[in-house]
Amino acid sequence: MLKDFFIGMSQNKLLNNMAQKYGFKLGAQSVVAGTNIEEMIESVKELNAHGISCTIDNLGEFVSDNEEALEAKRQILNVIEAIKENDIDAHISLKPTQLGLDIDYDFCLDNLRELVARANDYNIFINFDMEDYGHLHPSFNLIDELSKDYSNIGTVIQAYFFESEENIQTYKDYRLRLVKGAYKEPEAIAYQDKREIDQNLIKLVEYHLLNGKYTSIATHDHHIINHVKRFVKDNNIPKEKFEFQMLYGFRKNLQLELAKEGYNFCTYVPFGHDWYGYFMRRLAERPQNLNLMVKQVFNKKTNTLIGIGAGAFLLGRLSKRKNK
Ligand SMILES: Cc1cc2nc3c(=O)[nH]c(=O)nc-3n(C[C@H](O)[C@H](O)[C@H](O)COP(=O)(O)OP(=O)(O)OC[C@H]3O[C@@H](n4cnc5c(N)ncnc54)[C@H](O)[C@@H]3O)c2cc1C
Repeated sequence: MLKDFFIGMSQNKLLNNMAQKYGFKLGAQSVVAGTNIEEMIESVKELNAHGISCTIDNLGEFVSDNEEALEAKRQILNVIEAIKENDIDAHISLKPTQLGLDIDYDFCLDNLRELVARANDYNIFINFDMEDYGHLHPSFNLIDELSKDYSNIGTVIQAYFFESEENIQTYKDYRLRLVKGAYKEPEAIAYQDKREIDQNLIKLVEYHLLNGKYTSIATHDHHIINHVKRFVKDNNIPKEKFEFQMLYGFRKNLQLELAKEGYNFCTYVPFGHDWYGYFMRRLAERPQNLNLMVKQVFNKKTNTLIGIGAGAFLLGRLSKRKNK
């Protein structure tokens, strides 16, 4: 129920605009590394100092306007330049809908080509995040097209899709991030049961560790992490062949611990003004996250908490009205 509620909220354009316009942060600052490049670079440097590399997401998605998509491209070009200038250990994560996939496929392809080419000049990797099912195959098509000229790209396989096993075989020679899947997908195409999703993720991870290129295991789930640790040991898989990934602000101690144990670790660092959809999906995955964020904000300013309560109520009402 709560998951559906927050996923619904994440796709609500009106609330997204409101959040951006009024800077209604709902505690998002604990999981978003600032709203500008300077703040993000500071966060990345701090993580790098602990031996953690980063994948940077200049937040944005579901763009429906050409100018917005071009602006997103300019911003990501700036991030690529900032990685080079600051000599930080980082690469890029982006979402095809941010670059205009919902507007026109060829327009999106041109935007992505420019980004991938610039990153390639600097030897920077770009990961194409995977969004909802409607964008899955168009995103694979973009990857296929760009792979003809560039090798600095990779993508994500979402374990909740029935077709993920087939997809991982097709894309095994890419650097892949393996995840459970963050969107609400119908029963006809995706597992709904948590145990089935977990089992499938483990299956995909094992397959790619044994047969694929570099594997990014992106989860906060310590059961899966412990399973992977045992699996790589039993199968003599070298540490250079894989990394663990987690989101910025989540399970910080575990992130540091894994890096200290000598595993490659990469933190997904989102930043920018367009934080709303990202933030709502984190609440959908784990409503307890709301407690953590409320606590953090409460420590800073009591009246912000009152603002959050009133805001959450208002958002809920508006969301219901919009969905009718
Ligand atoms: C780096 C990264 C990139 C991602 N990219 C994508 C993408 O491109 N497309 C996409 O669809 N999804 C993406 N996701 C989201 C992913 O699909 C999942 O929705 C998300 O990671 C939640 O699943 P989980 O595996 O972390 O564990 P969950 O199933 O959420 O949690 C499993 C268990 O882990 C423990 N746990 C989890 N979180 C915490 C916490 N904060 N504190 C303490 N214990 C905790 C709890 O015991 C929990 O029961 C990404 C996730 C990460 C980490």
